[in-house]
Order: sequence, then structure tokens, then C-alpha cells
Amino acid sequence: MNNKRDYGAKLMDFSRDKLYQNLEPSQKAFIKTMGESYQLTFQELRQVTEMATDFNMWREPTIEDQWNNAALDQITPNGQSKKVILNGIRNHWWTLKANPTQYEPTAPKVKNVVRKMKNNLGENDVYGDCPVASDKTVCCNLKTIDAIQGCGLGCSYCSIQTFYEDGAIGIEENLTEKLDQIELDPNRNYHIGSGQSSDSLAMGNRNGVLDAQFDFARKHPNIILEFKTKTKNVDHFLKADVPPNVFVCWSLNPQVIIDHEEHFTASLGQRLHAARQLAD
Ligand code: SF4
Repeated sequence: MNNKRDYGAKLMDFSRDKLYQNLEPSQKAFIKTMGESYQLTFQELRQVTEMATDFNMWREPTIEDQWNNAALDQITPNGQSKKVILNGIRNHWWTLKANPTQYEPTAPKVKNVVRKMKNNLGENDVYGDCPVASDKTVCCNLKTIDAIQGCGLGCSYCSIQTFYEDGAIGIEENLTEKLDQIELDPNRNYHIGSGQSSDSLAMGNRNGVLDAQFDFARKHPNIILEFKTKTKNVDHFLKADVPPNVFVCWSLNPQVIIDHEEHFTASLGQRLHAARQLAD
């Protein structure tokens, strides 16, 4: 009885996992039932959820079909059958992962999800370290400014949409005030990126976020401020007085990748044209 209650608490805890929450209700229910039947560990629940998500994206049979197929010869749910089933699914998943992606010209179009926009008025920090920085990494000491949190574009490989609870795009309302509070050592050089939590140019100069960052760069000539984008939204840059320590970089991919993975972004030609306009 206690075991059952403990496992229920574990499942409850796991059900807050963002990837799990994004699955279809039937797949969530299936993973939960298998979790109970086979006493899947937290790690195993997480991996089954990741594989379920990948099978969905690759338009493969669902996790339920994969599980049932791997469980064909397994009569009783126990530790041994769990091992056989998970290994069977994992091996198939690895084989699919190792195959080069075949893009079908008739693949259905991805539907745009309309995301709400909100003004960020809170006390959240906008300045910090690159999320990868740690004692265990060889770090380039990139600093970040998060003027916008969340992104309305839809790159299939991007995890930013899962970072923010309500899926809304938050735009700082008092960015100038927050940037004014940042203390920098005038004897050091800083590399600061503004595209860690969003696409830097996707929202343009809404709430004056680009102007606030230009002012910040002007005030601190010892920084280089990097904007990263997959858009063609350079209108504000073409009109504004952009300080020389600001630069924009584009992420480039072959058009076939853009078409199938970087949904709602600018085409390769549009990105190159935008870069050319700024460079000229
Ligand atoms: S443009 Fe950048 S932030 Fe937006 S979805 Fe693509 S990778 Fe993520």
C-alpha cells in the first residue's frame, strides 16, 4: 500500500515534466500506466517520454505501439521484462536517430501556434552568465542580456518554448532602468549576447528594447553586444544610430533545413539580404 502511494507521489512529481506535459493525453496516460505496472524509475520515465516525443516528431508509430511491439514475448511485467522492453525500444530509437533525415516534399506544414505577448514588469534579472557556464566547462565567459523571454518562431530543435511556464513571450518594459543598474568593470572587456532566451530581433524595438540595448552599448565601450537572429527584421537597425560595438549575426542553414526545421523564420536568401543591407 505504501509502495503504491510512494509511486503515485513519484508519478505526480514526474507529471510536472515539461516534455511529458506536451504529449497527447493518451500517451501521457499510457506512460503513467506502464510506469505503475513496471515501476519505472524517474530516469526511465524521462527517457520513455523523450523517446515518445521523438517518435511523434519523426512520424513513427507511437510509444504505445513501440512498447506493445517490444513486449510481444513478455508475459508478466517484472524487472526482467522491463529491461527487455526498454532495450528493444531504445535500440530502435538509436537506429532511427543514426539514420540521416529524409525530408519528404509532401510533409504537412507545421501550424503556427499563436503566442500571447506580455510586458515583463517584475524584478527578474536581465543580466547573467551564459546558461552553459559552470566550473566543469571551458567557458568563453559570455554574458547575456534577456530583454525578451520566449520566442514566436518555431525551430524544432529549440528548447526555449519549454522554459517559460505559460508559453507567452515576455518583453521587458523597464529595460533601460534594469540595464542602468548593471555594474561593469571599466578595465575589463565583455562579450554580451542578447539571444539566449529568444531571437534577438524577432520582436523588433517593441517596448524600446533595442534602443535600450544600443544606449547600454554606447555607455560601455568596453563591451561587444551581439544580437542573434533568424529573421530579416533589420528595419530598426537601418534607421537607428547603432553604436560600433553592436553587431548582428545570423544563424545560417541550407534552405532544406530551414524549410523543415526552422519554422516561421526568414529564408536563407532573406537572411543573407538582411545581413547585406546592414553591412552596406
Ligand atoms: S529563432 Fe532561436 S529562440 Fe526562436 S525558436 Fe528558433 S532557435 Fe529558438
